[in-house]
Amino acid sequence: MLDWLATRFGSDRRLRLPIGDDAAWLDLAPEASCVLATDMLMAGVHFEPPPASPWERIGQKALGVNLSDLAAMAARPVAALVSLALPRGTSEADVRRLYDGVVSLADRFGMVIAGGDTNVYEGPLVLNVAVVGVPMGETVWTRGGGRPGDWLAVTGALGGSILGKHWCPEPRLETAAALVKAGVPVSAAIDISDGLSLDLARLAQASGCGAIVRAADIPIAPAAVQLAQDGGPTALEHALTDGEDFELLITLPPAAWQQVETLETLPVRLTVIGALTDEPGLWLEDQRGECHQLEPRGYWHG
Ligand SMILES: [Mg+2]
Repeated sequence: MLDWLATRFGSDRRLRLPIGDDAAWLDLAPEASCVLATDMLMAGVHFEPPPASPWERIGQKALGVNLSDLAAMAARPVAALVSLALPRGTSEADVRRLYDGVVSLADRFGMVIAGGDTNVYEGPLVLNVAVVGVPMGETVWTRGGGRPGDWLAVTGALGGSILGKHWCPEPRLETAAALVKAGVPVSAAIDISDGLSLDLARLAQASGCGAIVRAADIPIAPAAVQLAQDGGPTALEHALTDGEDFELLITLPPAAWQQVETLETLPVRLTVIGALTDEPGLWLEDQRGECHQLEPRGYWHG
């Protein structure tokens, strides 16, 4: 169905990228373009219905997931539209709390809440946020620009978001801005929303490459270690497959890494975890230097 949508609507000349990246890049007029993304969150699917989930958190997350997509495109957010389908009986105080969460993030990044739509019905809470941004630099980052030999790097640490991080996505907009400002030639980027291995597979496929990841170099979040203590998947498996990290996965030519290392203003650590390869397919190199096929696993929507 997604392929059909991309074909049906993707040929408009104002679209500067094929449909299917983290966000759309749209020509407005000669010399003017904007970047658009949208994401819908549904109670019972993406979060427990309130009051189990606090209204502020729901609002903050709904905007945060969109800002993570703009960060992955190296786009600066400008405006947001917020649309709500509210269960009948929702109080105005609860809706205000939801907007408090939206505004807490919007204010940090100087965004305007430009409008939206509100409906009341008999179903559970559904909210949709759409965001408008502008390219931070001359162009945007896409999933498809990676070349064989480019290094893979991730921001922050991965895994275990279920223990709290998933509620407060920290969109890596400042990091993207610092890289653009320094002229680091990022060749491809995606935000890790559905799991490192799955989002890496998407980036590699869009770039026409494969990828190899060194297990020992993956930055593992303390929350992933904590989850692994209860048995089940290892901390590494959590880092590879847990969704909702909202970190950035970028690729860059190895020669550009020196530029990153000299950056003093990078707000979060960037770690090289592997490289893109000529041959398609994903590989994981273990501590002994042996390679195993890496199955793209994570959160599949629908
Ligand atoms: Mg994304």
